Amino acid sequence: MHPRLLRLAPAAALVLVFAACSQQEPATPTATTATPPPPPPPPAPHKIEPVTPSVEGHTSPDITAEDFAARDQKISSDAFEGRKPGTIGERMATAWIKDQFELVGLKPGNNGNWFQTVPMVVATQLDPDKITLDVAAKNGDEHLAYRSDMIVGTLDASPSVDLKDSPIVFAGYGVVAPEQNWNDYAGLDVKGKTVIVLVNDPGWGNHDETLFKGKALTYYGRWTYKYEEAARQGAAACLIVHETPGAGYPWEVVVNSWSGPQDALPMREDPAPRLNVAGWLTTEAAQRLFAKAGANFDELKKSADLRGFKPTALDAKLSTSFKTRVDNMSSENVLGMIRGSTRPDEVVVYSAHWDHLGKDPNLKGDQIYNGAIDNGTGIAGLIEIAEAFTHQDPAPRRSVLFVAMTLEEAGLLGSRYYVTHPAFPLDKTVADINMDALPILGPTKDIAVISWGQSELDDYIKDAAAAENRTVVPDETPEKGFFFRSDQLNFAKLGVPVLYARSGLDLVDGGEEAGRKAYADYTANHYHKPADEYDPNWDFRGIVQDLKALYAVGRKLADETTFPQWKPDADFQRPATSPPAAAATPSDH
Ligand SMILES: [Zn+2]
Repeated sequence: MHPRLLRLAPAAALVLVFAACSQQEPATPTATTATPPPPPPPPAPHKIEPVTPSVEGHTSPDITAEDFAARDQKISSDAFEGRKPGTIGERMATAWIKDQFELVGLKPGNNGNWFQTVPMVVATQLDPDKITLDVAAKNGDEHLAYRSDMIVGTLDASPSVDLKDSPIVFAGYGVVAPEQNWNDYAGLDVKGKTVIVLVNDPGWGNHDETLFKGKALTYYGRWTYKYEEAARQGAAACLIVHETPGAGYPWEVVVNSWSGPQDALPMREDPAPRLNVAGWLTTEAAQRLFAKAGANFDELKKSADLRGFKPTALDAKLSTSFKTRVDNMSSENVLGMIRGSTRPDEVVVYSAHWDHLGKDPNLKGDQIYNGAIDNGTGIAGLIEIAEAFTHQDPAPRRSVLFVAMTLEEAGLLGSRYYVTHPAFPLDKTVADINMDALPILGPTKDIAVISWGQSELDDYIKDAAAAENRTVVPDETPEKGFFFRSDQLNFAKLGVPVLYARSGLDLVDGGEEAGRKAYADYTANHYHKPADEYDPNWDFRGIVQDLKALYAVGRKLADETTFPQWKPDADFQRPATSPPAAAATPSDH
């Protein structure tokens, strides 16, 4: 995701993990001959043989490491310039994906078209490094600097922002959750005011398993929710106080994600209220600001964890002004499909975003964000699974749709547009199986299910894993909220059950310790950096198993007549009364 949504996926790599198991056995001498057999070759070094990527046009119908490697290498190559929507990199990447879809035997998936045009507005701040947040407070003024103290921008596409002396209010977590009997805005009128809120939700802050979902992040903990709620309340500005554990990613990621052009759907496609000013503060900047207002940030923060928290007006006012250039543009989702043999109007969806962060001419050295893991792995996986389906005999009974989504990094915009303009009605959409930033860790004993506990798809992935002698485990970092951080969210919000699963961390070679080490290495050194590059030394055995499991789940769903259900306490549900689909409407797919 544009780093704004962050799923810090795991992934990664590496060599450190490939232990043991040489695949080169000494040749067995054949029968008796006069000449003694040659001496056995020296023991192979302690690593696996690198995979030789398949030549384009010579791929296998099976899901293989060679095909996957070729496709990941290609989609993450420098030629695609980091796949930023609206650039030449987009045109090259989407054309290549369409060609691959065609090559493996898919048909156009969007009512006869390969593409779905997603309109967007791009807001680019002018002179961002000159922007300050100017606080006039009880104990003096404070000027917060762009990048080092804060990040700020507009969400309503205003060309010119001029906020003057907006009263500042601390609103805890900024959450209104009637079913939890929790309202951080209780008794508060924030019209025209600046709201400062904390990351995550009270259950996380309080380490109380009875509040919200305890340590696990709920949708209320997502920054997207906090801005949506502040806008609904009528606030002029909302600033979220960053901290690494609660956000799940370091300040650097906030800066990288929010500086530079910001993409959004046009207002006509998404008419919910939007903030004029939205941003983030570092914890240190918040502490300074609160101190200038005669308040103690750390104490107020603690009070926000407790039931009965009351929002607090600070003796401080905020001013800021900046200009933004707003451009209307568009980007493309790429859709390919297989028509079902007996139930063609019902569909199983596989999705993966193709977009990434582009390139940054200001960087020293490597300037291209290749996104080989994020999300070259998802796109390569999408094509691999499509190829397996098109060679399947007999053909699937239900239709199967493969969507390469755009604008995921920008805030899941391509998938939001898709679900409001779906190629198949959502009440005929059986499930969405989404792939994003799949880890390449080598073989693992487990599959981590990010969507665990939400729907009956848990049982499907469990069976598919068991068939490969693997187990399934819930996401071990539910506090990071990966469930809300990729395209499956937009399907889930409208009631379509979703599966988001990937290799776990329990490596066959090295166990959990090695898995955690590899995960930490990816997060620290590769995630959303130019170093997220294809590595010829990757061990693809685990990811091939993952893709086979995801294929097996989709195949089962495509041959069934039932629809998987959400669990009763899931975050989302299918709409209570879906109107019966118009009888016998011929599908034009
Ligand atoms: Zn991604």
